[in-house]
Amino acid sequence: MTSFTDFGLAEPILRALAEEKYETPTPIQSQTIPTALAGRDVIGIAQTGTGKTAAFALPILNHLTTKRLRPEKKSCRVLVLSPTRELSGQISESFRAYGRHIKPLAVALAIGGVPINRQVRSLAHGVEVLVATPGRLLDLVNQRAVTLNQVEILVLDEADRMLDMGFIHDIKRVVAMLRKERQTLFFSATMPQEITRLADQMLIDPVRVAVTPQATTVERIAQRVIHTEKSAKPALLVEVLKAEKTDRVLVFTRTKHGADKVVRSLEKTGFFAEAIHGNKSQNQRERVLADFRSGKLRILIATDIAARGIDVDGVSHVINYDLPNVPESYVHRIGRTARAGADGIAISFCDQEEGVFLRDIERLIRVAIPASGERQPHRPAPQNAGGRGNNGGGRNQRGGNGGGGNGRHGQSGNRSHGGGNGGQGGRPSHGHQGIPRAGATPGEPNSIGTVTFLQRSGEPRRNAGHRAPR
Ligand code: AMP
Repeated sequence: MTSFTDFGLAEPILRALAEEKYETPTPIQSQTIPTALAGRDVIGIAQTGTGKTAAFALPILNHLTTKRLRPEKKSCRVLVLSPTRELSGQISESFRAYGRHIKPLAVALAIGGVPINRQVRSLAHGVEVLVATPGRLLDLVNQRAVTLNQVEILVLDEADRMLDMGFIHDIKRVVAMLRKERQTLFFSATMPQEITRLADQMLIDPVRVAVTPQATTVERIAQRVIHTEKSAKPALLVEVLKAEKTDRVLVFTRTKHGADKVVRSLEKTGFFAEAIHGNKSQNQRERVLADFRSGKLRILIATDIAARGIDVDGVSHVINYDLPNVPESYVHRIGRTARAGADGIAISFCDQEEGVFLRDIERLIRVAIPASGERQPHRPAPQNAGGRGNNGGGRNQRGGNGGGGNGRHGQSGNRSHGGGNGGQGGRPSHGHQGIPRAGATPGEPNSIGTVTFLQRSGEPRRNAGHRAPR
């Protein structure tokens, strides 16, 4: 589908999309919308940043407009479960934005960290859409503020993250309260076994749709790594902030404490930054996010969990002050830049202890991230990252000469189109050989373009390592 009008969506929805300036459906939207409109259950393997919110919200809104029913008191017709408050807030905003011409449309948000009473009141007359984090939803159910037996469509968003955050039992409890004849739309960036099992229990004859998560992140992002001593990181951050032409910078640290430390050390050098993490109150987090969105705050320091679902367009730089020990988090992190069609830059600081994390990340994304401006005199020679072939020594070069691997592309061909039903879930094989270097020329043997990363079907990804001068 090349245009939203091709889906047969109701006019009020098309009008809202035109106002949002959405012209072309993203791959996950092209695949999900027709399937969901046909009433099928869907497993969508896609991460935030791929346009998956609209992929489920648009068919749901279409269902609500074509099948008009007054929701019963203290009930909802559509339930969306998401792991974090921020993501839930953004999903409810998206429903309101895409549904702004649908009347009546009540969208309620049920998240922890804020008083429950308003949420109880907002559900009193029943709502079309309830977006909730699992814990708060169960609190509301226990207080008899909402019953779930009227749910026609269930969305489970970021299922893998739900698992990571320990919500799996809450989800099972919620699902047990729903009626069997419903539609279920299930989204996850990865499909580990436990998530596959959960999906098997929740979905009936689902259609699988997939977009490779890496494609969206690496396509437009110039990635590089700076090897450094741990103790040199504060000064390095200042140096990078001074050297780069930045608009909005998102800096990731591994811990909450680390985030606060970075804020303080930047303050000493005259850079104003704020941190967002689990120790902050909901109000604080919302204010900081709003400032970041409006451009009042230019440097935001975040931990992985807090940043989950942050959807701010115009993030020019993601800086990994600490590398994540979970490689998928790298993909999530750098996906915060290059949103909505823009280019972005991701710079990672890697100290000696983090070398192993870097190798895991490079295996996952199948790209050797080019290094620049090393900040340590003696870096140990890189070890072979799962059979990187001849490529290992090239990390310090800026990319551009094509990957030096041995030309074996491993399993990447299977994932390259990310399309069709039955796309392969889970992480890519670690056994591949010859990681192409970011910056290799598309089309060359062993370049990224021919290996894995196609974003839209048939469209080769562009040079990932270096961004074209603007
Ligand atoms: P999501 O993956 O749902 O978090 O969406 C990522 C970003 O892409 C959000 O800022 C959306 O507003 C934007 N977006 C989603 N779909 C489209 C589209 N078809 N055209 C342009 N922007 C989009």
